[in-house]
Amino acid sequence: MPRPIVAHIRPDAVHHNLEIVREKAARSRVWAVVKANAYGHGIERIFPGLASADGIALLDLDEAVRVRELGWDKPVLLLEGVFEPADVALVERHRLTVAVHCDAQLDLLIAAKPRRPIDIQLKMNSGMNRLGFRPDAFRAAWERAASAPSIGKITLMTHFANADEGEIDWQLDRFDAATDGIPGERTLSNSAGVLWHPNAHRDWVRPGTILYGASPTGASRHIADVRLRAAMTLTSRIIGVQTLTPEETVGYGRKFTVDRKMRIGVVACGYADGYPRHAPTGTPIAVDGVRTRVVGRVSMDMLTVDLTPCPNAGIGSSVELWGDQVRVDDVAEAAGTIGYELMCALARRVPVEIVPPEAANARPAPLRTGSYGR
Ligand SMILES: *Cc1c(COP(=O)(O)O)cnc(C)c1O
Repeated sequence: MPRPIVAHIRPDAVHHNLEIVREKAARSRVWAVVKANAYGHGIERIFPGLASADGIALLDLDEAVRVRELGWDKPVLLLEGVFEPADVALVERHRLTVAVHCDAQLDLLIAAKPRRPIDIQLKMNSGMNRLGFRPDAFRAAWERAASAPSIGKITLMTHFANADEGEIDWQLDRFDAATDGIPGERTLSNSAGVLWHPNAHRDWVRPGTILYGASPTGASRHIADVRLRAAMTLTSRIIGVQTLTPEETVGYGRKFTVDRKMRIGVVACGYADGYPRHAPTGTPIAVDGVRTRVVGRVSMDMLTVDLTPCPNAGIGSSVELWGDQVRVDDVAEAAGTIGYELMCALARRVPVEIVPPEAANARPAPLRTGSYGR
C-alpha cells in the first residue's frame, strides 16, 4: 500500500479561474501562463482547462513543443524568447511567438531566414530591471524589428515590478510615453494587473498564479472576494496519534512543548513531498474538514498536528495540507514564502490524480471552524 499522500489536480478549476479572468479583463485576450510545468500542476494535466484561453505562455522550448503536441493550435509565447540560433528552427516549426528583450535576440532573429516571419513581443524594461530594452532604446529596437523581413507581427510588452502590492503608474507612464505612436497591440498585466489595475489590461493580459487559485500577493485574504478555486489539493492521512502530557515536546529540535493534555496527529507528509520545512507551529491545516494547526518541526516524511479541535480524528483521518479548505497562500505565508513556490515545489514522489469534471463540480465540503488557525 502506498503512503496515503496524494495531490488532486482540477483542470475544471483552471477553467473556472480563467472565466474569472475573462470577467475582470473583459476586453482583453488572455495568455494563460503555464511556465514551470503549469506552476507545478503539470501542463498535460490542466490542459483541458485551458481551452478558452487565447494563447499559452511559457518559457521552455520543450514545454512549447509539448503544448503543440497536445494539439494546441492557438498562439504559444516564449516569455524569455530564444537563447541560441538553433532555437529558431523549433520556433519556426511550431509557429511560436517569441519575446525579444535585448539586442542579441534581435540580431539573432534578424539574421535568421525563416520561411515565414516570426511574431514577436518586444519587451520594454519599464522599471522591473530584469529583462527588456530601456525606454530610451525601445523605439530604435522597434524600428529595427519592423524593418526585418524575418519578423512578423510586433506586440509591445512590459512587466510590472509591484502590481501586487503597490503602484504601477510610474511604469505605465514610462511605457506609454516610450511607445507613443508605435503601432501594435500591448500586453502588460500579470495576475495582479488583471485583478487590481484595469487601466493596464490593454490588448492581452498574462495571468499565471490566479489560474491555479493562488494570490499574487501570497496572502489569501487579498483574493477573498475573487471566488477562485484551488487547482491543486494536497491531501494525506493521519498515520499515528500520540497523547501527550504537559512538558512533553514534539518532534526534532523539541520545538513545541505541550502545555496541557493534548492529542497529536502524525500526518504522512513532509518536506520531501514539497511541504515547506519552514512552516512553524500554527501553520493552518485541516483534519477531517476541521481547521487546526501544525505543531513542531516538519520532518522529511511526516509532520505533526494538534488534534484538540477535532477530538474524533484518529488514524486514517483525512488531512488537507492545502486546497479549498486551507489555501496554499496561507501555508506559504506562515512559512515565509508565496503559494507559487509551494505549488512549483510539489515533489515528484507525490502521486497525482486528475479530478474529472463531474467530480469537480461538486462543491468542496464546507470548512468547520476549529479553535486554531485563521
Ligand atoms: C510569470 C509571468 C507572468 C504571470 O505572472 P503571475 O504573477 O503568475 O500572474 C506574466 N508575465 C511574465 C513575463 C511572467 O514571467
